Amino acid sequence: MAKALFAIFGNPVSHSKSPLMHNLAFKGLEYDGCYARYRLEDGSKLKEKFFELGLKGINITVPHKEYAYAACDELDPFAKKVGAVNTIVEKNGKLHGYNTDAPGFLKAISEFKEIKTVLFLGAGGTAQSTSVILKEEGYDVTLLNRSEGRLTKFKEAGFKTFTFDDFQPKHYDLIINMTSAGLEDDALPAPKEILEKVMPSSKACVDVIYGKETAFLKLARAYNKPVKDGSDMLLYQGIIAFEYFTENQYAFKTIKIHMQKAFTL
Ligand code: NDP
Repeated sequence: MAKALFAIFGNPVSHSKSPLMHNLAFKGLEYDGCYARYRLEDGSKLKEKFFELGLKGINITVPHKEYAYAACDELDPFAKKVGAVNTIVEKNGKLHGYNTDAPGFLKAISEFKEIKTVLFLGAGGTAQSTSVILKEEGYDVTLLNRSEGRLTKFKEAGFKTFTFDDFQPKHYDLIINMTSAGLEDDALPAPKEILEKVMPSSKACVDVIYGKETAFLKLARAYNKPVKDGSDMLLYQGIIAFEYFTENQYAFKTIKIHMQKAFTL
């Protein structure tokens, strides 16, 4: 059988860790696969490029997760519900789509015990899929966003939503930075006065940004809160995608042993 080819599609993709993660797992598990990166400028060409490159599976990152959803012939029920696909596998000429960001995130926060109420800072694409899975798991999720626009669909889906102007602080067990504030700068995801009202009584704080200590995490540390960045979310979404790529031939724990080396190199 020919080597199975995989890739990450996005724009930009140059700094993605996915090729390293998946290639370490292929090597460690002696699976005859290879994972590359492909900068896709026009998301509407996703399906065409997939077949042109002779791929078996892809991950999709910003800004093409909605195009990926539209390109699929078959959708996993959860991906269908949230309208975003970050993993596609080809089976008998058909593209099957999954969302592994949300279950990866759920697993990443499961180390924090006795969490019931969660405050999301941000209401973008990542908040969309992760809020749905948390709600399904019985968490009580509130969203606080800088501007009103993106909150509408969350409000319609039954979530409590606030902007900085109408927020009424109360106790939240877990506070999560779901924004890109702090990614390229030292910005906080919400005004400091708001964070200073909710952080002291929280049990833990999480950032989806990985590979750096953001201003948000620094502030949480100053309150002696347990913190974690987005590395485990990234690792776990990759492991779950790998399970789909290799049709569940390997256990989660076994894949993890190899894939997590990407975070120590
Ligand atoms: P989107 O572009 O869909 O949404 C961005 C969100 O951030 C919006 O709510 C926006 O608010 C808010 N925002 C941006 N800048 C600021 C700011 N300076 N102050 C306050 N709010 C701000 O982004 P995504 O949901 O795709 O990504 C969000 C983050 O998640 C990124 O940092 C990304 O790197 C990270 N991520 C991590 C993953 C992982 O595996 N660890 C996986 C996927 C994403 P507004 O509506 O007002 O514009």
